[in-house]
Amino acid sequence: MAASTKKNLSISSVDDQSQYKATWTQRAWFASGCTTVLISLAKSMLILAAGAPTGPRTLLHLIMAALLGYLLADLSSGIYHWAIDNYGSAKTPVFGSQIESFLAHHQYPSEITKFETAGITYTMAGFVTVAFLPVNLFSNDPIFLWFVAVFTGFGLLTLNIHAWSHTPRRKLPPVVAALQDAGVLIRWSQHTAHHRPPFNSSYCVMSGIWNRVLDEYKVLLALEVALFRVMGVKPRSWSEPISEWKPMMTQDEQPVLH
Ligand SMILES: [Zn+2]
Ligand SMILES: [Zn+2]
Repeated sequence: MAASTKKNLSISSVDDQSQYKATWTQRAWFASGCTTVLISLAKSMLILAAGAPTGPRTLLHLIMAALLGYLLADLSSGIYHWAIDNYGSAKTPVFGSQIESFLAHHQYPSEITKFETAGITYTMAGFVTVAFLPVNLFSNDPIFLWFVAVFTGFGLLTLNIHAWSHTPRRKLPPVVAALQDAGVLIRWSQHTAHHRPPFNSSYCVMSGIWNRVLDEYKVLLALEVALFRVMGVKPRSWSEPISEWKPMMTQDEQPVLH
């Protein structure tokens, strides 16, 4: 779940710090994704500032839009992660490198903390740019643009937020540690279940809020059964044990990497 699959798979055997650096292309995608989010935010604020006086009703709509964006970002992270962990292979068109990268993350869970932010997030940043830059250009609804800003902002950073849940607490920026403590971002104790056999729960990696719902009501298992019945495809999580997958270290065992 990082710069490139080949880099991930060679991690344990090659002690070359340069492999964790992002390329300039990845940094450019990261910058374009961040710019797209900022345009949504700025356009929303400018429209509100230029329009009719705003009251409590507008404020309520902004709060609800932000909440919806935040919740949907976590749910999307869970569904995407579940699909990538369970279906396809390195040869799958478009998603192949992501699939290989996520599977490598299960083999070497703590390696994700070594990568530069742009190297982890560039795929999501690219998606945000391509899918939401046109939305920014054509939408003039400030509430919707505010929703888009929150949804894409958290969505773009999801894999970095996931990496923070693998990072030793003493190495976290204080604001990130505070947000983890407040339950805004997923923390180690919430994510560790995903890295334990049978490796089929806690797929949401942004806030983790949806994990309880998806796991208790077996929503993703129901989807797996439906897909198997319709298409005859078994998810990877049914063929356990996945022998090469390793558990997550305890928070204190995590190596100091930066
Ligand atoms: Zn996973
Ligand atoms: Zn993880």
